[in-house]
Amino acid sequence: MIVVKAGGRVIKNALQNVISSILQYQGKLFFVHGGGDIVSDYSKKMGIEPVFVTSPEGIKSRYTSKEELDVYVMVMNFISKTIVNSLVKNGKYALSISGVDYASVKAERKKRIMIIDERGKKRIIDGGYTGRITQVNSEFLIKMLDFIDYIVISPIAVDINEGTMLNVDGDQMAFNIAKATKADALILLTDVKGVIYNDSVVSKLTSEEAKELSKKVGAGMNRKLLMAASAIESGVRKVVIASGLDSDSINNALKGYGTVIS
Ligand code: ADP
Repeated sequence: MIVVKAGGRVIKNALQNVISSILQYQGKLFFVHGGGDIVSDYSKKMGIEPVFVTSPEGIKSRYTSKEELDVYVMVMNFISKTIVNSLVKNGKYALSISGVDYASVKAERKKRIMIIDERGKKRIIDGGYTGRITQVNSEFLIKMLDFIDYIVISPIAVDINEGTMLNVDGDQMAFNIAKATKADALILLTDVKGVIYNDSVVSKLTSEEAKELSKKVGAGMNRKLLMAASAIESGVRKVVIASGLDSDSINNALKGYGTVIS
């Protein structure tokens, strides 16, 4: 069993290729999708201006207000049903859930976050509706996969204590599911061919090398490398960071196209 995650730009610009890749993969998988760019588009259409904040480490992320959480949940569900519809149309009986369903992925609301404000000063603000994953019900997910080949998962978790849904990072969702289910592989499909260093794609890394390289690459990729190293250290056999823009990207990633961390 494998876990595949496709980032927001891949979902927005190459959805048909993503679907074709799932159809061509012969095996069971959990498919986690992003969709941040599409959420932003719909927020604007609904008169909500998306807000992004920058952490002291320079990581830019969406600030999810209550009204944007509503749009986030709607759009993420729309994306997952669109994917399932395409799979079902092609004879593959897929199912989509989010972490809210059966409380399969629990998270804790980030109550306070530190940001760098417009004047470059550190400031602590309320964390909004973004969460940190605390628990994955792996038993439930594995049992579901016994009779359903493709399970599509939206990056929405549930905070049981506060009784709210939360926006969780898609990479973190995929990583936590891969770790909890001891997946054979975690494939992160993005809009580049892998980790680029010195103008070429790095083909293989150990977890130690991935941690080292994370200090030398830009935003987006640095977090993926740290997460990949942690996945390997937690028992996931391999992580592949690869392009999701091709029509057979899952099989290609498994063949080693992209950056393989093992
Ligand atoms: P996704 O939304 O697809 O998960 P991210 O934006 O989180 O993607 O991360 C992928 C992005 O990381 C790429 O689009 C690229 O712009 C950026 N990036 C920064 N440094 C590198 C690097 N050294 N190699 C490849 N991509 C990099």
